[in-house]
Amino acid sequence: MTQDRATRQEQASPLEQLREVNRRLEQQIAELRSVNAELVRANAVKTRFLTQMSHEVRAPLHTIQGYAELLGDESYGVLSDEQRRFVKHVSEAGRLLTELLSDVMDLAKIEAGKIELDVQPMNVNRAAEQAARIVQGVARNGSVAIRIETDEQEPVALADERRVKQVLVNLLSNAIRYSPEGSSVDVHVSGEGEWIKVCVRDEGIGIAPEDQERIFEEFVRAGPDRDDPERTGLGLPLSRELVKLHGGEMNVDSAPGKGSTFWFTLPVATPPEEAEARSEGAMKAAERLVRSE
Ligand code: ADP
Repeated sequence: MTQDRATRQEQASPLEQLREVNRRLEQQIAELRSVNAELVRANAVKTRFLTQMSHEVRAPLHTIQGYAELLGDESYGVLSDEQRRFVKHVSEAGRLLTELLSDVMDLAKIEAGKIELDVQPMNVNRAAEQAARIVQGVARNGSVAIRIETDEQEPVALADERRVKQVLVNLLSNAIRYSPEGSSVDVHVSGEGEWIKVCVRDEGIGIAPEDQERIFEEFVRAGPDRDDPERTGLGLPLSRELVKLHGGEMNVDSAPGKGSTFWFTLPVATPPEEAEARSEGAMKAAERLVRSE
């Protein structure tokens, strides 16, 4: 019987053989489609779970932090040194957990395509200055200096200012964390044609070549923080995703012991005069067309 079929196949014309190959291909495509649909569904379930879980955990977490703050203020009685230390640990753990939840929720929203950007023309120099002020408070009592070199032309990007500051705060906090005392972190903003490039350069420990791409993956920590439970490894993947949502890109140039330069690009907002000149040009071209008809 089986031999019969084999003989029949051998005898099949090239056209029939082609049909048979085509039929098998179509079958495989249909199987792939169904696996893909299943994956999309599973991913949507994961995203929904993450978002809901983060929401649920937030409320009790706020309560814990609120009470820890009340205790820490000593409004309800003076604490011993040991009690004060414990309350500080509770507050610190609460803060880390809040940050983690917020990053997880942002990433889940991006994955689900549900993040909304408030895109407007924004002054990148000013955002860099504001981000620097935010992290300066934690810059190891000011032992790492942040210097901002801005483009004289005040580059204006078309971007969501809050999200750009979030990216800058992330990069600056990392730069400070991995820098030696007394060193400096430089932020450089420059216009490059259709793009604005922002570089955050440090003189810190640098990153091994094999880690330079991995660190943009979720939950990956490297270097001395590889096993630090206080680090989440979400800052860079989230920052890169936020930049990508604007159409830009983010990467790092680094060498161990020689510091790192994290950079990202944002689309430039067309200056009003240029936009006006462009539309005037278009009007003139249209007039010429009408006249020549
Ligand atoms: P986290 O939020 O835990 O800091 P990130 O995603 O921001 O995670 O960073 C991931 C890893 O990238 C860090 O664990 C660290 O090894 C490395 N890294 C990030 N920024 C720098 C830097 N400026 N210098 C050296 N290593 C860095």
